[in-house]
Amino acid sequence: MISPEIIEEIKYRCDITDVISTYVPLKRAGSNYNGHCPFHSERTPSFTVFPATRSFYCFGCGAGGDVVTFIMKRENLDYRSALEMLAKRAGIELPREERREDTGAIKRERILSMNRDAARFFHACLYDPNLGANGLRYLTERGLSGATIKHFGLGFAPDSFGNVTDHLTKLGYTAEEMSVGFLCGISKKSGRPYDYFRNRVIFPIIDVTGNVVAFGGRVMDDSVPKYLNTSDTPAFKKSRNLFALNYAKSKCADRLILCEGYMDVIALHAHGFENAVATLGTAITPEQARIMAKYTKQVIISYDSDEAGQRAANKAMKLLSEVGLDVRVLRVTGAKDPDEFLRKNGTAAHEKFKLLLDNSRAQFEFKLDGVLSRHDISIIDERIKAAAELCRIISEVYSEAERDVYIGVVSDKLEIPRDSLKNDVKRAMREREKSQKKEEIQAVINKTAGYGDRVNPDMVKNTGAVNAEENILGILLLYPENLAAVKKGKIELSSTDFFSEFNRKVFEEALARCDDTGKFDFSLLNEVFDVDSMGRITSMVIKRRRLKENGTELLCDMISRLREETRHRKNEGDDMAQIADILASQRNKLKKT
Ligand SMILES: [Zn+2]
Repeated sequence: MISPEIIEEIKYRCDITDVISTYVPLKRAGSNYNGHCPFHSERTPSFTVFPATRSFYCFGCGAGGDVVTFIMKRENLDYRSALEMLAKRAGIELPREERREDTGAIKRERILSMNRDAARFFHACLYDPNLGANGLRYLTERGLSGATIKHFGLGFAPDSFGNVTDHLTKLGYTAEEMSVGFLCGISKKSGRPYDYFRNRVIFPIIDVTGNVVAFGGRVMDDSVPKYLNTSDTPAFKKSRNLFALNYAKSKCADRLILCEGYMDVIALHAHGFENAVATLGTAITPEQARIMAKYTKQVIISYDSDEAGQRAANKAMKLLSEVGLDVRVLRVTGAKDPDEFLRKNGTAAHEKFKLLLDNSRAQFEFKLDGVLSRHDISIIDERIKAAAELCRIISEVYSEAERDVYIGVVSDKLEIPRDSLKNDVKRAMREREKSQKKEEIQAVINKTAGYGDRVNPDMVKNTGAVNAEENILGILLLYPENLAAVKKGKIELSSTDFFSEFNRKVFEEALARCDDTGKFDFSLLNEVFDVDSMGRITSMVIKRRRLKENGTELLCDMISRLREETRHRKNEGDDMAQIADILASQRNKLKKT
């Protein structure tokens, strides 16, 4: 654990408003600052920085925490690395012995070192004629040179159950570490580890700091699954990484090429397009879209030319433009994907692919072509359907000038007067607004009832108790001297009083990190809670700070309310007669009020 004094020093020197405003333009609003949330896409700013509590909170998506949480989420770092980054900014050296004590970081470090060893082993197997001949033949037949194979550190997982696990065991890694790191499974029958990747070509996934964070394994025939990927581990989040971004990041300031497969990316890099990346065997996630927005201005989607690929391109386009990127779509002609296209075109491959890039179509053209290919506009009915579809598409465009241009294009193509199209677009916009409002209202209703609460799933079971808990925790964390009083038994409250598992954990972790004098730093919770959880905890503190009354008396009131709420809940399960009693007393209460 890093001492509260050091964290205090770091937070003092790295003012939260200063740090966040280097990422997000902030405007003063009273004693706070507002801006557009960097963690979800929004048009009206709901992201707020509170200098007084040195915290931030987004009223739109619930992200929140302190400056350490912000850096963790924005830079995609763990607790330790985020502190190191801020310490560096502040000119503070973190004590070395404290560096070793951080168990969370050791785990991640351990998996990273195991991955590095595994990557070396896979690469060596590829060149072992007894183990990897098939793999090497496959890659060579796909046109990869030795230099490219080395550049990407490609490898081969032999067709056996014990090669990798035996090798890693010899190097001192335990079955648990291999299983957490997704390099082995554990046999249900024997309880022994077995290789997870077998008879597959291996693509190491390397993050932007150069760590091997995961592996992708591809079969060499038509068997399924075509790709096997590492699932999430302490060192890896699939939704936050992109294949080859470690190479592309310095070559993509102007444009980035987004592909579907690893082989497309490798072929593109080999042909001089070093700004290509791929998602990791899944559809693109909002997090990946935001990461791309950090590195580039324009993304050219270069997916497979089949229908599934084009549908995926449609989805990706939406996510990418939501984060403000200029998005274009490239259509591969005469081949099923970029890899095949480059192989077919031999020495002219670079020139020809560059032509495709330059002819890539902007979003609207791409969608227009899609609609026109589905409808025969020489038939009146079909022309009306196409117009309706296009008006809906145009109604999603934010800028009015842009909408006008598109209306002009459609008017010419379909020979429909501009004014009638304009009216239809307006109507579509109104309908969209209406349905969005409905969704928002439903979301608020669900939230009040505690439905779909991912951070605290117990909320729906007993809203009264959980609300009391949030008030208690808010006061304890806002004024940590109360935490010390709980610790010394001056205020009677224990973890068994808590109804919800999440709030009990918050209570226990905060108590464990507070000393007898009430010295405690909110930031210490970053070590055990993820950013969504930190957002919830921040909102508890902010809510209490807005209210004037936060004294010990109120705290004790809340504690007895919590006990009452949980007592009801327990009794309900006990005995039907008691339920009748409770209902009767509640009826009386209602009569009185
Ligand atoms: Zn947000």
